[in-house]
Amino acid sequence: MNWNCNYFEYFGDYIDMSIYADDVVNFTSVLKIAYNFLTGREYLQKKKSKEKKTLISVASGFPDLVYAADSIPVFPIRMEKFKLNLYLLALNSATSLFGWNLTTKLLGIARQVDFLKIVDNVLNDVINSINEKYNLFYDIAISKNNLSDFCYGIKSIYGMNVSEANMCDSSLNFTLRCDKYNKYLKSLKTLVPNQIWVEIPPLEKDDEENILKILVDNIKKAIVEIENITGNIVTDNSLNKQFRIGNQVKRYYKSIIDEISNSDFYPCNPATFAEILALLTISFQDYNSNAQRYLENISQLVKEMRERIKRGVGMDVSNMPKILLSPIFNGWEPKAQEIIYDLGGKVLYSDWDLLGLLEEIPVSKNSDPIEEYARFLLNSAKKGLACLNNCEALTNSYLKYVKKVKADGFIINQLSDCNINFNCYELMKNKIRTELRIPSTGIQFKKIGENIEQTKAKLNSFMDLYS
Ligand code: SF4
Repeated sequence: MNWNCNYFEYFGDYIDMSIYADDVVNFTSVLKIAYNFLTGREYLQKKKSKEKKTLISVASGFPDLVYAADSIPVFPIRMEKFKLNLYLLALNSATSLFGWNLTTKLLGIARQVDFLKIVDNVLNDVINSINEKYNLFYDIAISKNNLSDFCYGIKSIYGMNVSEANMCDSSLNFTLRCDKYNKYLKSLKTLVPNQIWVEIPPLEKDDEENILKILVDNIKKAIVEIENITGNIVTDNSLNKQFRIGNQVKRYYKSIIDEISNSDFYPCNPATFAEILALLTISFQDYNSNAQRYLENISQLVKEMRERIKRGVGMDVSNMPKILLSPIFNGWEPKAQEIIYDLGGKVLYSDWDLLGLLEEIPVSKNSDPIEEYARFLLNSAKKGLACLNNCEALTNSYLKYVKKVKADGFIINQLSDCNINFNCYELMKNKIRTELRIPSTGIQFKKIGENIEQTKAKLNSFMDLYS
Protein backbone atom coordinates (compact mmCIF):
# COMPACT_ATOMS: atom_id res chain seq x y z
CA MET A 1 0.00 0.00 0.00
CA ASN A 2 3.00 2.25 -0.34
CA TRP A 3 1.55 3.86 -3.43
CA ASN A 4 -1.16 5.36 -1.23
CA CYS A 5 1.39 7.11 0.97
CA ASN A 6 3.31 8.43 -1.97
CA TYR A 7 0.28 9.74 -3.77
CA PHE A 8 -1.04 11.32 -0.66
CA GLU A 9 2.25 13.09 0.03
CA TYR A 10 2.51 14.14 -3.59
CA PHE A 11 -0.99 15.53 -3.96
CA GLY A 12 -1.69 16.47 -0.37
CA ASP A 13 -1.32 20.18 -1.01
CA TYR A 14 -4.15 20.23 -3.51
CA ILE A 15 -6.68 18.70 -1.18
CA ASP A 16 -9.34 20.04 1.08
CA MET A 17 -12.07 17.77 2.38
CA SER A 18 -15.21 17.70 0.35
CA ILE A 19 -18.68 17.62 1.78
CA TYR A 20 -19.38 14.97 -0.84
CA ALA A 21 -16.73 12.54 0.39
CA ASP A 22 -19.00 9.64 1.23
CA ASP A 23 -20.78 9.85 -2.05
CA VAL A 24 -17.99 9.70 -4.56
CA VAL A 25 -16.22 6.63 -3.25
CA ASN A 26 -17.76 3.51 -4.79
CA PHE A 27 -18.94 5.40 -7.85
CA THR A 28 -16.29 3.80 -10.03
CA SER A 29 -18.22 4.70 -13.16
CA VAL A 30 -18.24 8.39 -12.28
CA LEU A 31 -14.50 8.29 -11.70
CA LYS A 32 -14.05 6.63 -15.08
CA ILE A 33 -16.18 9.18 -16.93
CA ALA A 34 -14.30 12.00 -15.19
CA TYR A 35 -10.96 10.37 -15.92
CA ASN A 36 -11.80 9.85 -19.60
CA PHE A 37 -12.98 13.42 -19.89
CA LEU A 38 -9.89 14.95 -18.32
CA THR A 39 -7.35 12.77 -20.08
CA GLY A 40 -8.87 13.42 -23.49
CA ARG A 41 -5.77 15.20 -24.74
CA GLU A 42 -3.46 12.18 -24.37
CA TYR A 43 -6.12 9.85 -25.72
CA LEU A 44 -6.75 12.00 -28.79
CA GLN A 45 -3.05 12.52 -29.48
CA LYS A 46 -2.56 8.76 -29.43
CA LYS A 47 -5.52 8.18 -31.75
CA LYS A 48 -4.25 10.78 -34.17
CA SER A 49 -0.55 9.99 -34.26
CA LYS A 50 -0.46 6.23 -33.69
CA GLU A 51 -3.77 5.06 -35.12
CA LYS A 52 -3.97 7.79 -37.78
CA LYS A 53 -7.57 8.58 -36.91
CA THR A 54 -9.21 11.78 -38.12
CA LEU A 55 -10.35 14.16 -35.36
CA ILE A 56 -13.47 16.21 -36.05
CA SER A 57 -14.65 18.95 -33.74
CA VAL A 58 -18.33 18.73 -32.72
CA ALA A 59 -20.69 20.42 -30.27
CA SER A 60 -24.21 20.08 -28.84
CA GLY A 61 -24.50 16.31 -28.88
CA PHE A 62 -24.12 15.55 -32.59
CA PRO A 63 -21.20 13.10 -32.82
CA ASP A 64 -22.96 10.26 -34.71
CA LEU A 65 -21.89 11.00 -38.28
CA VAL A 66 -18.26 11.19 -37.21
CA TYR A 67 -18.41 7.85 -35.41
CA ALA A 68 -20.09 6.30 -38.45
CA ALA A 69 -17.01 7.32 -40.47
CA ASP A 70 -14.76 5.43 -38.06
CA SER A 71 -13.34 8.75 -36.88
CA ILE A 72 -13.16 10.61 -33.59
CA PRO A 73 -15.56 13.39 -32.58
CA VAL A 74 -14.10 15.92 -30.17
CA PHE A 75 -15.84 18.51 -28.07
CA PRO A 76 -12.91 20.97 -28.24
CA ILE A 77 -12.44 21.46 -24.49
CA ARG A 78 -11.21 17.86 -24.32
CA MET A 79 -8.04 18.75 -26.19
CA GLU A 80 -6.95 20.85 -23.21
CA LYS A 81 -4.46 19.84 -20.58
CA PHE A 82 -6.17 19.79 -17.19
CA LYS A 83 -4.21 20.31 -14.04
CA LEU A 84 -6.22 17.57 -12.35
CA ASN A 85 -4.98 15.00 -14.79
CA LEU A 86 -2.40 14.17 -12.13
CA TYR A 87 -5.12 13.64 -9.63
CA LEU A 88 -6.84 10.89 -11.54
CA LEU A 89 -3.65 9.63 -13.12
CA ALA A 90 -2.62 8.58 -9.64
CA LEU A 91 -5.84 6.68 -9.39
CA ASN A 92 -5.34 5.19 -12.81
CA SER A 93 -1.91 3.89 -11.86
CA ALA A 94 -3.62 2.16 -8.98
CA THR A 95 -6.25 0.76 -11.30
CA SER A 96 -3.74 -0.72 -13.67
CA LEU A 97 -2.31 -2.59 -10.73
CA PHE A 98 -5.56 -3.59 -9.09
CA GLY A 99 -8.42 -3.06 -11.53
CA TRP A 100 -11.12 -0.45 -11.02
CA ASN A 101 -13.34 -2.48 -8.70
CA LEU A 102 -10.60 -3.46 -6.31
CA THR A 103 -9.21 0.06 -6.37
CA THR A 104 -12.55 1.46 -5.35
CA LYS A 105 -12.69 -0.95 -2.43
CA LEU A 106 -9.17 -0.03 -1.41
CA LEU A 107 -10.06 3.62 -1.60
CA GLY A 108 -13.09 2.95 0.56
CA ILE A 109 -10.86 1.34 3.19
CA ALA A 110 -8.32 4.12 2.85
CA ARG A 111 -11.02 6.70 3.43
CA GLN A 112 -12.21 5.06 6.61
CA VAL A 113 -8.79 5.54 8.14
CA ASP A 114 -8.75 9.05 6.74
CA PHE A 115 -5.77 8.09 4.66
CA LEU A 116 -6.48 8.91 1.06
CA LYS A 117 -8.35 12.18 0.93
CA ILE A 118 -7.40 12.60 -2.70
CA VAL A 119 -10.35 10.83 -4.25
CA ASP A 120 -12.91 12.21 -1.84
CA ASN A 121 -13.51 15.35 -3.79
CA VAL A 122 -12.64 14.15 -7.26
CA LEU A 123 -15.97 14.99 -8.77
CA ASN A 124 -16.22 18.38 -7.15
CA ASP A 125 -12.75 19.24 -8.35
CA VAL A 126 -13.38 17.87 -11.83
CA ILE A 127 -16.34 20.19 -12.28
CA ASN A 128 -14.37 23.13 -10.84
CA SER A 129 -11.45 22.38 -13.09
CA ILE A 130 -13.65 22.23 -16.18
CA ASN A 131 -15.31 25.48 -15.16
CA GLU A 132 -11.98 27.22 -14.69
CA LYS A 133 -11.17 26.30 -18.27
CA TYR A 134 -14.55 27.59 -19.45
CA ASN A 135 -13.85 30.97 -17.85
CA LEU A 136 -10.40 31.00 -19.41
CA PHE A 137 -11.91 30.41 -22.86
CA TYR A 138 -14.42 33.18 -22.21
CA ASP A 139 -11.50 35.55 -21.47
CA ILE A 140 -9.69 34.43 -24.63
CA ALA A 141 -12.78 35.24 -26.71
CA ILE A 142 -13.07 38.67 -25.07
CA SER A 143 -9.42 39.37 -25.78
CA LYS A 144 -10.04 38.57 -29.45
CA ASN A 145 -12.63 41.29 -29.22
CA ASN A 146 -14.90 40.13 -32.02
CA LEU A 147 -17.54 38.34 -29.95
CA SER A 148 -18.02 40.87 -27.16
CA ASP A 149 -21.83 40.90 -27.27
CA PHE A 150 -22.20 37.11 -27.50
CA CYS A 151 -23.43 34.76 -24.78
CA TYR A 152 -21.11 32.83 -22.45
CA GLY A 153 -21.60 29.58 -24.39
CA ILE A 154 -20.49 31.05 -27.70
CA LYS A 155 -17.57 32.91 -26.17
CA SER A 156 -16.30 29.85 -24.35
CA ILE A 157 -16.62 27.48 -27.31
CA TYR A 158 -14.88 30.04 -29.53
CA GLY A 159 -12.09 30.30 -26.93
CA MET A 160 -11.76 26.49 -26.93
CA ASN A 161 -11.23 26.53 -30.66
CA VAL A 162 -8.68 29.36 -30.49
CA SER A 163 -6.82 27.39 -27.85
CA GLU A 164 -6.53 23.96 -29.42
CA ALA A 165 -8.47 23.65 -32.68
CA ASN A 166 -5.31 23.04 -34.68
CA MET A 167 -5.36 19.47 -33.35
CA CYS A 168 -8.59 18.84 -35.29
CA ASP A 169 -8.72 17.97 -38.97
CA SER A 170 -12.15 19.43 -39.45
CA SER A 171 -15.23 20.83 -37.74
CA LEU A 172 -18.77 19.49 -38.15
CA ASN A 173 -21.25 22.33 -37.77
CA PHE A 174 -25.02 22.11 -37.39
CA THR A 175 -26.65 25.49 -37.88
CA LEU A 176 -29.08 26.57 -35.17
CA ARG A 177 -31.78 29.20 -35.32
CA CYS A 178 -29.66 31.64 -33.41
CA ASP A 179 -27.91 34.12 -35.70
CA LYS A 180 -25.22 34.75 -33.10
CA TYR A 181 -24.40 31.04 -32.98
CA ASN A 182 -24.30 30.82 -36.77
CA LYS A 183 -22.05 33.88 -36.92
CA TYR A 184 -19.70 32.16 -34.49
CA LEU A 185 -19.69 29.02 -36.69
CA LYS A 186 -18.70 31.11 -39.69
CA SER A 187 -15.88 32.70 -37.72
CA LEU A 188 -14.44 29.20 -37.10
CA LYS A 189 -13.19 29.11 -40.67
CA THR A 190 -10.05 30.99 -39.68
CA LEU A 191 -9.31 28.45 -36.94
CA VAL A 192 -10.33 25.14 -38.53
CA PRO A 193 -10.10 25.52 -42.32
CA ASN A 194 -12.01 22.32 -43.16
CA GLN A 195 -15.65 23.01 -42.37
CA ILE A 196 -18.51 20.55 -42.82
CA TRP A 197 -22.00 22.01 -42.59
CA VAL A 198 -25.41 20.52 -41.91
CA GLU A 199 -27.98 23.23 -42.35
CA ILE A 200 -31.18 22.58 -40.42
CA PRO A 201 -33.77 24.46 -42.53
CA PRO A 202 -36.00 27.04 -40.83
CA LEU A 203 -39.06 25.17 -39.57
CA GLU A 204 -41.56 27.87 -40.29
CA LYS A 205 -40.74 28.28 -43.97
CA ASP A 206 -42.10 25.13 -45.54
CA ASP A 207 -44.18 22.04 -44.92
CA GLU A 208 -42.58 19.33 -42.85
CA GLU A 209 -42.11 16.72 -45.57
CA ASN A 210 -40.29 19.21 -47.73
CA ILE A 211 -38.10 20.34 -44.84
CA LEU A 212 -37.27 16.71 -44.19
CA LYS A 213 -36.21 16.22 -47.81
CA ILE A 214 -33.96 19.28 -47.71
CA LEU A 215 -32.41 18.11 -44.46
CA VAL A 216 -31.81 14.59 -45.84
CA ASP A 217 -29.97 16.18 -48.79
CA ASN A 218 -27.95 18.39 -46.46
CA ILE A 219 -26.93 15.37 -44.36
CA LYS A 220 -25.95 13.43 -47.48
CA LYS A 221 -23.73 16.30 -48.65
CA ALA A 222 -22.11 16.46 -45.21
CA ILE A 223 -21.47 12.70 -45.31
CA VAL A 224 -19.68 13.04 -48.66
CA GLU A 225 -17.45 15.72 -47.15
CA ILE A 226 -16.77 13.60 -44.08
CA GLU A 227 -15.83 10.70 -46.35
CA ASN A 228 -13.45 12.93 -48.32
CA ILE A 229 -11.76 14.22 -45.19
CA THR A 230 -11.51 10.90 -43.37
CA GLY A 231 -10.99 8.64 -46.36
CA ASN A 232 -13.60 6.29 -44.84
CA ILE A 233 -16.96 5.31 -46.28
CA VAL A 234 -20.14 5.87 -44.28
CA THR A 235 -22.63 3.06 -44.88
CA ASP A 236 -26.16 2.29 -43.68
CA ASN A 237 -24.57 -0.35 -41.50
CA SER A 238 -22.03 1.97 -39.91
CA LEU A 239 -24.75 4.56 -39.25
CA ASN A 240 -27.10 1.98 -37.72
CA LYS A 241 -24.30 0.53 -35.62
CA GLN A 242 -23.60 3.98 -34.16
CA PHE A 243 -27.30 4.73 -33.64
CA ARG A 244 -27.66 1.44 -31.71
CA ILE A 245 -24.84 2.42 -29.36
CA GLY A 246 -26.25 5.95 -29.05
CA ASN A 247 -29.75 4.59 -28.34
CA GLN A 248 -28.45 2.51 -25.46
CA VAL A 249 -26.52 5.46 -24.03
CA LYS A 250 -29.71 7.52 -24.22
CA ARG A 251 -31.75 4.80 -22.52
CA TYR A 252 -29.36 4.72 -19.55
CA TYR A 253 -29.20 8.51 -19.43
CA LYS A 254 -33.00 8.63 -19.37
CA SER A 255 -33.11 6.04 -16.56
CA ILE A 256 -31.09 8.44 -14.42
CA ILE A 257 -33.49 11.28 -15.21
CA ASP A 258 -36.80 9.40 -15.16
CA GLU A 259 -36.15 6.70 -12.60
CA ILE A 260 -33.39 7.77 -10.20
CA SER A 261 -34.29 11.46 -10.02
CA ASN A 262 -37.90 10.51 -9.23
CA SER A 263 -36.86 8.19 -6.45
CA ASP A 264 -37.48 9.21 -2.83
CA PHE A 265 -34.05 7.90 -1.99
CA TYR A 266 -30.98 9.11 -3.91
CA PRO A 267 -27.78 7.06 -4.27
CA CYS A 268 -25.83 10.09 -3.01
CA ASN A 269 -26.64 13.54 -1.70
CA PRO A 270 -28.49 15.78 -4.17
CA ALA A 271 -25.51 18.12 -4.68
CA THR A 272 -23.37 15.20 -5.85
CA PHE A 273 -26.26 13.92 -7.92
CA ALA A 274 -26.45 17.31 -9.65
CA GLU A 275 -22.68 17.19 -10.24
CA ILE A 276 -23.02 13.80 -11.90
CA LEU A 277 -25.77 15.24 -14.13
CA ALA A 278 -23.51 18.19 -14.95
CA LEU A 279 -20.67 15.83 -15.89
CA LEU A 280 -23.06 13.90 -18.14
CA THR A 281 -24.27 17.12 -19.78
CA ILE A 282 -20.70 18.05 -20.67
CA SER A 283 -19.41 14.61 -21.64
CA PHE A 284 -22.48 13.64 -23.72
CA GLN A 285 -21.42 16.14 -26.41
CA ASP A 286 -18.85 13.71 -27.86
CA TYR A 287 -19.31 10.60 -25.64
CA ASN A 288 -15.78 11.29 -24.42
CA SER A 289 -14.59 10.42 -27.95
CA ASN A 290 -15.26 6.70 -27.51
CA ALA A 291 -18.93 5.74 -27.81
CA GLN A 292 -18.55 2.11 -26.76
CA ARG A 293 -16.54 2.97 -23.66
CA TYR A 294 -19.05 5.71 -22.77
CA LEU A 295 -21.88 3.22 -23.07
CA GLU A 296 -20.12 0.81 -20.72
CA ASN A 297 -19.52 3.54 -18.16
CA ILE A 298 -23.03 4.95 -18.21
CA SER A 299 -24.58 1.47 -17.96
CA GLN A 300 -22.34 0.79 -14.97
CA LEU A 301 -23.33 4.13 -13.48
CA VAL A 302 -27.02 3.20 -13.59
CA LYS A 303 -26.24 -0.20 -12.11
CA GLU A 304 -24.21 1.35 -9.28
CA MET A 305 -26.94 3.88 -8.55
CA ARG A 306 -29.60 1.17 -8.38
CA GLU A 307 -27.42 -0.99 -6.14
CA ARG A 308 -26.75 1.84 -3.74
CA ILE A 309 -30.44 2.64 -3.53
CA LYS A 310 -31.23 -1.03 -2.92
CA ARG A 311 -28.63 -1.23 -0.17
CA GLY A 312 -29.91 1.97 1.41
CA VAL A 313 -26.63 3.82 0.74
CA GLY A 314 -27.38 7.43 -0.05
CA MET A 315 -29.93 9.91 1.18
CA ASP A 316 -33.65 10.17 1.79
CA VAL A 317 -34.78 13.06 -0.39
CA SER A 318 -38.52 12.53 -0.17
CA ASN A 319 -39.13 15.91 1.47
CA MET A 320 -36.94 17.94 -0.81
CA PRO A 321 -38.52 19.84 -3.72
CA LYS A 322 -37.13 18.91 -7.12
CA ILE A 323 -36.02 22.00 -9.03
CA LEU A 324 -35.38 21.92 -12.76
CA LEU A 325 -32.60 24.39 -13.61
CA SER A 326 -32.20 24.94 -17.35
CA PRO A 327 -30.65 25.59 -19.82
CA ILE A 328 -27.13 24.93 -18.59
CA PHE A 329 -25.34 23.61 -21.68
CA ASN A 330 -24.27 27.08 -22.75
CA GLY A 331 -22.92 27.91 -19.31
CA TRP A 332 -24.34 28.33 -15.81
CA GLU A 333 -23.31 29.08 -12.25
CA PRO A 334 -22.47 25.66 -10.79
CA LYS A 335 -22.65 27.01 -7.23
CA ALA A 336 -26.43 27.14 -7.75
CA GLN A 337 -26.79 23.42 -7.09
CA GLU A 338 -24.95 23.71 -3.76
CA ILE A 339 -26.92 26.76 -2.71
CA ILE A 340 -30.22 25.02 -3.50
CA TYR A 341 -29.08 21.90 -1.66
CA ASP A 342 -28.17 23.98 1.40
CA LEU A 343 -31.65 25.52 1.23
CA GLY A 344 -33.31 22.11 1.20
CA GLY A 345 -33.86 21.45 -2.53
CA LYS A 346 -32.54 19.03 -5.13
CA VAL A 347 -31.53 20.18 -8.60
CA LEU A 348 -32.24 18.42 -11.87
CA TYR A 349 -30.09 19.18 -14.92
CA SER A 350 -31.47 17.53 -18.06
CA ASP A 351 -31.04 19.84 -21.07
CA TRP A 352 -30.40 17.08 -23.59
CA ASP A 353 -33.60 15.28 -22.65
CA LEU A 354 -35.57 18.51 -22.78
CA LEU A 355 -34.21 19.34 -26.22
CA GLY A 356 -34.97 15.90 -27.65
CA LEU A 357 -31.38 14.72 -27.94
CA LEU A 358 -32.12 11.68 -25.78
CA GLU A 359 -34.73 10.43 -28.24
CA GLU A 360 -33.73 7.17 -29.86
CA ILE A 361 -33.13 6.92 -33.60
CA PRO A 362 -35.13 4.00 -35.04
CA VAL A 363 -32.95 1.24 -36.38
CA SER A 364 -34.56 -1.53 -38.38
CA LYS A 365 -33.96 -3.52 -41.53
CA ASN A 366 -36.27 -1.35 -43.59
CA SER A 367 -35.42 2.02 -42.14
CA ASP A 368 -33.35 4.58 -43.98
CA PRO A 369 -30.76 5.73 -41.42
CA ILE A 370 -30.18 9.14 -43.00
CA GLU A 371 -33.91 9.87 -43.06
CA GLU A 372 -34.24 8.68 -39.45
CA TYR A 373 -31.35 10.93 -38.45
CA ALA A 374 -33.00 13.87 -40.23
CA ARG A 375 -36.25 13.20 -38.30
CA PHE A 376 -34.30 13.09 -35.06
CA LEU A 377 -32.70 16.47 -35.82
CA LEU A 378 -36.03 18.02 -36.80
CA ASN A 379 -37.69 16.74 -33.67
CA SER A 380 -34.97 18.30 -31.58
CA ALA A 381 -35.23 21.52 -33.58
CA LYS A 382 -38.95 21.66 -32.83
CA LYS A 383 -38.30 21.25 -29.12
CA GLY A 384 -36.14 24.32 -29.06
CA LEU A 385 -32.60 23.46 -30.02
CA ALA A 386 -32.86 25.16 -33.37
CA CYS A 387 -35.90 27.39 -33.06
CA LEU A 388 -34.79 29.82 -30.46
CA ASN A 389 -36.33 32.66 -32.39
CA ASN A 390 -39.69 31.00 -31.76
CA CYS A 391 -40.52 31.85 -28.19
CA GLU A 392 -43.85 30.06 -28.24
CA ALA A 393 -42.30 26.74 -29.30
CA LEU A 394 -39.60 27.07 -26.69
CA THR A 395 -42.10 27.93 -23.95
CA ASN A 396 -44.37 25.00 -24.86
CA SER A 397 -41.43 22.67 -24.90
CA TYR A 398 -40.41 23.79 -21.39
CA LEU A 399 -43.98 23.62 -20.15
CA LYS A 400 -44.40 20.03 -21.32
CA TYR A 401 -41.05 18.98 -19.96
CA VAL A 402 -41.45 20.50 -16.50
CA LYS A 403 -44.74 18.59 -16.24
CA LYS A 404 -43.19 15.36 -17.53
CA VAL A 405 -40.34 15.27 -15.01
CA LYS A 406 -42.73 16.26 -12.20
CA ALA A 407 -40.55 19.15 -11.12
CA ASP A 408 -41.70 21.09 -8.06
CA GLY A 409 -40.08 24.26 -9.30
CA PHE A 410 -38.38 25.76 -12.33
CA ILE A 411 -35.43 28.10 -12.56
CA ILE A 412 -34.47 29.52 -15.91
CA ASN A 413 -30.82 30.32 -16.41
CA GLN A 414 -30.93 33.70 -18.19
CA LEU A 415 -27.72 34.23 -20.11
CA SER A 416 -26.47 37.75 -20.67
CA ASP A 417 -26.23 38.76 -24.33
CA CYS A 418 -28.50 35.89 -25.35
CA ASN A 419 -30.78 36.16 -28.34
CA ILE A 420 -33.72 35.01 -26.25
CA ASN A 421 -35.18 38.26 -25.07
CA PHE A 422 -36.45 39.28 -21.65
CA ASN A 423 -40.12 39.03 -22.70
CA CYS A 424 -39.69 35.41 -23.69
CA TYR A 425 -38.20 34.56 -20.29
CA GLU A 426 -41.12 36.34 -18.62
CA LEU A 427 -43.66 34.47 -20.72
CA MET A 428 -42.02 31.16 -19.90
CA LYS A 429 -41.91 31.80 -16.15
CA ASN A 430 -45.47 33.09 -16.03
CA LYS A 431 -46.91 30.19 -18.00
CA ILE A 432 -45.16 27.65 -15.82
CA ARG A 433 -46.35 29.42 -12.67
CA THR A 434 -49.96 29.82 -13.77
CA GLU A 435 -50.53 26.65 -15.81
CA LEU A 436 -48.52 24.20 -13.71
CA ARG A 437 -48.96 26.04 -10.41
CA ILE A 438 -45.37 25.65 -9.32
CA PRO A 439 -42.87 28.35 -8.38
CA SER A 440 -40.60 29.64 -11.13
CA THR A 441 -37.90 32.24 -11.29
CA GLY A 442 -34.89 33.33 -13.32
CA ILE A 443 -31.24 33.78 -12.38
CA GLN A 444 -28.90 35.98 -14.38
CA PHE A 445 -25.73 34.42 -15.69
CA LYS A 446 -22.79 36.20 -17.27
CA LYS A 447 -19.67 34.33 -16.19
CA ILE A 448 -18.92 31.59 -13.64
CA GLY A 449 -18.19 33.12 -10.25
CA GLU A 450 -19.75 36.51 -11.04
CA ASN A 451 -23.00 37.56 -9.41
CA ILE A 452 -22.86 34.85 -6.73
CA GLU A 453 -24.32 37.09 -4.03
CA GLN A 454 -27.18 38.14 -6.26
CA THR A 455 -27.83 34.53 -7.26
CA LYS A 456 -27.81 33.49 -3.61
CA ALA A 457 -30.32 36.18 -2.69
CA LYS A 458 -32.59 35.19 -5.57
CA LEU A 459 -32.44 31.50 -4.69
CA ASN A 460 -33.01 32.27 -1.02
CA SER A 461 -36.30 33.98 -1.68
CA PHE A 462 -37.26 31.30 -4.23
CA MET A 463 -36.62 28.44 -1.81
CA ASP A 464 -38.53 30.33 0.92
CA LEU A 465 -41.65 29.48 -1.05
CA TYR A 466 -41.22 25.84 -0.01
CA SER A 467 -40.86 26.45 3.72
S1 SF4 B 1 -29.86 31.42 -28.14
FE1 SF4 B 1 -28.72 32.55 -26.58
S2 SF4 B 1 -27.64 30.98 -25.39
FE2 SF4 B 1 -28.26 30.04 -27.34
S3 SF4 B 1 -26.47 30.32 -28.67
FE3 SF4 B 1 -27.89 31.99 -29.08
S4 SF4 B 1 -27.18 33.66 -27.78
FE4 SF4 B 1 -26.24 31.77 -26.98
